Amino acid sequence: MMILKLGGSIITEKGAKTPTINNNNLKRIAKEIKNALNYQKTSKDFNNGLIIVHGAGSFGHPFASDYEIGKPFNGSEDLEKKKKGFSLTQSWVKKLNSLICDVLREENINSVSIQPSSFVITRNKRIEHANLDLINQYLETGFVPVLYGDVVLDLEKSIKMAVLSGDQIINYIAKKLVPERVILGTDVDGVFNKNPKKDYNAQLITELTSLKDLESMDATTNIDVTGGMVGKIKELLELAHIGIESEIINAECENLIEKALCGQKVRGTIIKKNK
Ligand code: ADP
Repeated sequence: MMILKLGGSIITEKGAKTPTINNNNLKRIAKEIKNALNYQKTSKDFNNGLIIVHGAGSFGHPFASDYEIGKPFNGSEDLEKKKKGFSLTQSWVKKLNSLICDVLREENINSVSIQPSSFVITRNKRIEHANLDLINQYLETGFVPVLYGDVVLDLEKSIKMAVLSGDQIINYIAKKLVPERVILGTDVDGVFNKNPKKDYNAQLITELTSLKDLESMDATTNIDVTGGMVGKIKELLELAHIGIESEIINAECENLIEKALCGQKVRGTIIKKNK
């Protein structure tokens, strides 16, 4: 089984103030996924299982940050405001998921939408409980479950609600379902020593094994509500430490997702266990 993440930076216009989809990327990537699934069927190296997790991008971050979901609330008025923000965010990310599932279906991929806020509970922003039996059953039946960054209920009384990133979902499901490959498509070639969008001299780090490798990294450049690149790497290092490798690749480069899903080694950053 493989897990593929489609970053919010790829499937939406991430910097947009209102929810804006990136249809060109989405349609191209859906074709690439279809080609890869066809290839996997003809090869006995693959078990034909795929879970897709996508980010929220401009369908989630503007609302989650405006309403400060995940921050302690200050009295009942603030709680009411946050509940409104929660409801709004949940609705927009669900719309994004629906659009993505539609495009996948246009390529004859039998996607099924799995809404995290309907089965995941966090405690202090980390997943406390999520029953994956249904996802397993969908996989066994040959569906492609599609999960996404969402807002969820949180058991910590001072916050009650949290933003759940696609990256944390990947961390959780990979630990439980132990995929053969975890591929994260984003809008840069991988992890660099500096933000490559801001510094042309940034060097690609091809292998990451510990947070120490990040010491040279300028972590202040990409703080979004779910932690940006540093948050992503922390989730993936946890997987690496239990032997589950992952790779961050550039989903804006044509065919990279397809090649990676077909088992080829492509340019990017591998997050792996220190030998
Ligand atoms: P996604 O939405 O695809 O999951 P994010 O937007 O959270 O991804 O993270 C990718 C972004 O992180 C890139 O667009 C890049 O501008 C930014 N970034 C900041 N620092 C780095 C770094 N050191 N290496 C790579 N990307 C970085």
